[in-house]
Amino acid sequence: MRLNSQSKLETFKQLAIEVNECKRCGLWRSRRKPVFGDGNVDAIVVFIGEAPGYWEDVKGKPFVGSAGRLLDEILRENSISREEVYITNIVKCRPPENRDPRPEEIESCKVYLDRQLDLIRPRIIVTLGRHSTAYIFSKAGIPFKSISEAQGKLYEAEFWGTRVYVIPSYHPAAALYNVKFRDDIEKAIRLVRRVKDELKL
Ligand code: URA
Ligand code: SF4
Repeated sequence: MRLNSQSKLETFKQLAIEVNECKRCGLWRSRRKPVFGDGNVDAIVVFIGEAPGYWEDVKGKPFVGSAGRLLDEILRENSISREEVYITNIVKCRPPENRDPRPEEIESCKVYLDRQLDLIRPRIIVTLGRHSTAYIFSKAGIPFKSISEAQGKLYEAEFWGTRVYVIPSYHPAAALYNVKFRDDIEKAIRLVRRVKDELKL
């Protein structure tokens, strides 16, 4: 059942409390603050990153470090505000030294992402990087080969009996290491803008 906004907010708050106390995987030992997610619980577009980095762990908010600044910039260029979207990660606690999340950590943590998505029921899901793309593809039954092949394309999935558009992108952190990824990320976000406009979402 679709919840109204008020009960949705309440359920979100409860879920955030669960995440704050979560010890389902070993990452709770080294985290400072879990990063639940941020934005509009009625968002049309949800962005899913990988895991918190240094600043996210300090502040408890997603994408507030240098990758976040880049993402903000690209969103702004496409007239997409952070307030209108919802941003979260597949893994809610920072892996030590920013290592990749392990499969068992993703497995333990994905219940929270699933519940967030079930509550928001977005029409567009933007997956940032390999891990969230592989996860959403597996949920949607779309075969995943690699992020380089999938990124920048539009996929259709069916969730909650509704057509949902999935747009994978390289992770914004990739563009910090190699500027050539920036063009691709910009293209992917322009595609988000276009789908939103064409579908009048
Ligand atoms: N990278 C991510 O994947 N998520 C964040 O929240 C920050 C950096
Ligand atoms: Fe729990 Fe996820 Fe944090 Fe692991 S990463 S402790 S599953 S909230």
